[in-house]
Parts: sequence; C-alpha cells; structure tokens
Amino acid sequence: MTRLTPTSPPSDRHPVSGAAGPPGAERASATPHDMRHPYAETPAKRPLRVLSLGAGVQSTTLLRMTIAGELEPADHAIFADTGWEPPAVYRHLEQLKKECENAGLPLHIVSKGNIRNDALDPDQRFASMPLHLLKANGDNAISRRQCTSEYKIAPLLAKQRELAGLKPRQRCNEHRITTIIGISFDELQRMKPPAFPWIVNEYPLVDRRITRHDCLTWNDQHGYERPPRSSCIGCPFHSNAEWRAIRDDPEAWADAVDFDHKLRTGRLAHLLAPSKAYLHPERRPLDEVDIRSEEERGQLNMFDMECEGMCGI
Ligand code: SF4
Repeated sequence: MTRLTPTSPPSDRHPVSGAAGPPGAERASATPHDMRHPYAETPAKRPLRVLSLGAGVQSTTLLRMTIAGELEPADHAIFADTGWEPPAVYRHLEQLKKECENAGLPLHIVSKGNIRNDALDPDQRFASMPLHLLKANGDNAISRRQCTSEYKIAPLLAKQRELAGLKPRQRCNEHRITTIIGISFDELQRMKPPAFPWIVNEYPLVDRRITRHDCLTWNDQHGYERPPRSSCIGCPFHSNAEWRAIRDDPEAWADAVDFDHKLRTGRLAHLLAPSKAYLHPERRPLDEVDIRSEEERGQLNMFDMECEGMCGI
C-alpha cells in the first residue's frame, strides 16, 4: 500500500510494482467499522481515515469505490470549496452528498471564502493565482500560486486538525489521520509526503494502477454519470479543452471573461502593475483567444476518443 509519511524516503514514493490490475478487480482487505467520530472520541483512538474529496473524476471514483466496499472504508470525507467551481461541479457535489448520506459517511464542506470575490475585494488580502503575466519589458512570467494552499489545503488541514482533536498549531507526533487521496496512476508524480507527523497519506488508485481513464470507465460500468472536471471557473491552468467546457456554460463563461477583464482594471491591475495579467497563456483577453478545437476549425479529428495526453507513446 502506498503510504507517505513526512519522512518517507524518495524510494517509497513510487511503490507501484506489484499493484493490482483493472479497477475493482481486487477487493481490499477492508475492515468494516462504524467508528466515525473525531479521533479523541474513538475508544481505540485509532487513526481516522479521511478522504480528500475534490469532486472531480479521480476523487469521486475513489469515494464511490470506498462506498462500494472495493476499498478500505473512510470515516469522513472533506470537500474544500473555493466558492468558484462551475455549476456542474456543484450539481455533482449535491449528488455526492446524497451518496455519502446513504452510506452513512459524513461529508464535511469547508471553505476559506469565495476565491473570486476575495480577489476583487480591496479589503481582502489577494491570494495570488498562477496568472499569466506580460511584464513591462515584454517578457512572460507566471505569478506565484498561493490559492491552492489558502483555499484548498488550509481549510482541509484545519478540519483534519479538528477531527484529530488537535488545536491550531498544536504539535503531535502520533499518527492520528490517514488522508486518502485520489491521485491516479497516470499522475503518480503528484504524490507528496504529508506536512505533519500526525498525518499519513494513502493513494489507493496508484496502488491499483487505476488511471483517470479507468476511473471514467468504472463510473460508466456502475451506471454513474461521468464526474465533471473540478477546478475554479477562472483557473489559469485550464487547457483550451477546459476553456471550451466553461464556454459551453454561458453564465460561467461570462463570469470568467469578466474576471479576466478585471485583472487589468481596478484593484488587481494596481496590485500586479507594471505587469498585465491574463487568465489565458496567450496573454490576450479571454474572449479574444481562439479556443476552438481542431474539429471546430474544420480540421479532421482522427481520434474519436478522449485524449489522455499519451499519443505517440
Ligand atoms: S483551481 Fe486553479 S485557481 Fe482554483 S485554487 Fe486551484 S490553482 Fe488556484
């Protein structure tokens, strides 16, 4: 089992050999239990298993496999809400709430605030997003990324501290929380050791060599709608395909275009000056960038399937 502790040596970070075959083919030696209380209230004081839910493809599949008994059970699930997910993600989250409720799995939704509104609010500190900058001398740059740690990691960690029975900044060397993380086999390089000794990170999808594509197949085979991609509406990391998905929702697209314009007016323009900031890497206003697919441009698409970024390998 892939478990990363704060002191895991690098050789422990890619323990993929001997992992299982297709998704769901092997059932974990799960130990069902009904202890879903915070750590301090559990009679055995065993580490709590906390599933980090992003509500995207991988973590949704992880959650559903856990509920289906194909993976070791979780005691809690936590979703950190940036307040700026696309409507499809919030609709999907409502569905997941029902699935957790039916399974008796507490789902906690935590939030630092609305990342979009906070960025535009002069009274809030700006948690920098990875914006595409055009510097005064014409060079390109990307602004520092603080948004993930402030809007995703910090609220998740605060809730885990609470469940672990720890006060803010209280030190603890005892393993109290196992964080179950939905990183798939095709992106195993994203695995990281935890920041604190009381947390151990676990990666069940990596252990079973389950890729993102396998996750989609698992959802299809089990009669679920495919989960949407989860990320902020105006995330500067979006590919053109992701921008097209945003564009397909007129409200979300208008929201992203508006935010992109506001990067170069008012508060944010002042903060980022003399550079100019953009959401798209072409460093042009979002509504002026050509984000059409090759098919939309009238070019032939020879691969009528989802691209996994592995063509030619
Ligand atoms: S999805 Fe993008 S904008 Fe939102 S928190 Fe993550 S990196 Fe930042």
